[in-house]
Amino acid sequence: MRRVLGRIALVLVGLLAVAAIYAYQQVSSLETERVTDDVHVLFGLGGNVGVLATERGAVIVDTLTFRMQGARIREAGEKIGRGPAQAIINTHYHSDHTHGNPAFAAGTKVWSTQRTRDYLLHFDADYWQGGAEGTLPNQVFDDAHELSVGGKTIRLQHLGPGHTGGDLVVLFVEDRVLHTGDLFFNGRYPNIDLEAGGSVREWIATLDRVLALDFDRVIPGHGPVTDREGMRAFQNFLRELWTLAEQAAREGKSLAETQGMPGLSADAGYQTIGIPFVFKLDRAFVIRRAWEEATGAVTALQVPARPVN
Ligand SMILES: [Zn+2]
Repeated sequence: MRRVLGRIALVLVGLLAVAAIYAYQQVSSLETERVTDDVHVLFGLGGNVGVLATERGAVIVDTLTFRMQGARIREAGEKIGRGPAQAIINTHYHSDHTHGNPAFAAGTKVWSTQRTRDYLLHFDADYWQGGAEGTLPNQVFDDAHELSVGGKTIRLQHLGPGHTGGDLVVLFVEDRVLHTGDLFFNGRYPNIDLEAGGSVREWIATLDRVLALDFDRVIPGHGPVTDREGMRAFQNFLRELWTLAEQAAREGKSLAETQGMPGLSADAGYQTIGIPFVFKLDRAFVIRRAWEEATGAVTALQVPARPVN
């Protein structure tokens, strides 16, 4: 008996080691892709990172999930951004876009909307202490702000609710590249953060305003780099999702009945994002969230109203 238990323990230790190695590889891998001469994307475990090279150094958009990844972004950003980070931009408050911030020097300029800062302090306060508060957003605005760094123009705009209530998009003007943060998931099921002011219904109109901007290439929050057609396909998916949810609410359908309704086809080929037993962004998840919004079964955090362009 003892021998059998010993073997089981050995197998378990082996499995844990494999899981730890896998997790380490996931966290430490950082792939780089060129979008233009001066704009690169870093892909890792978490939201896509944008790096703009300027004459004075790097501008970094989002910082992945772990401080250790932030350190790798800092190093890679310094190389491909032609110098140390001059500014960090956080597209929204989620940990897979912000938790690398503390790897940068305290006092680095960190831009976000005021709402994103509000959400960070409300939903994620524990993380942002013990030194980490030095890289909380310290340059905030409500609806739009333009930055000039080392000969480059960077336009930050909050164009309405969608994924959360505080998302901004980043336009690298000279390079005609847009980083959308999580207002756009390319080929993947999106998170819909209704509690932090997100809305499927309003997301569709917000994307109309995003699509009116002047750009060629798009870095989504998750998934491969694409163009405005890719973003339109995602908007179409949201339209189908909202139509389905509204119909379900009108007809008084239960969530289980709604999950079985036809009408969603633009998600063909979409990938699921998830961590086993923690969360899963899949078809059932997006239908549940849209149904909750359409039937009013959700309570959003109340933050002071902010103007929207
Ligand atoms: Zn997000």
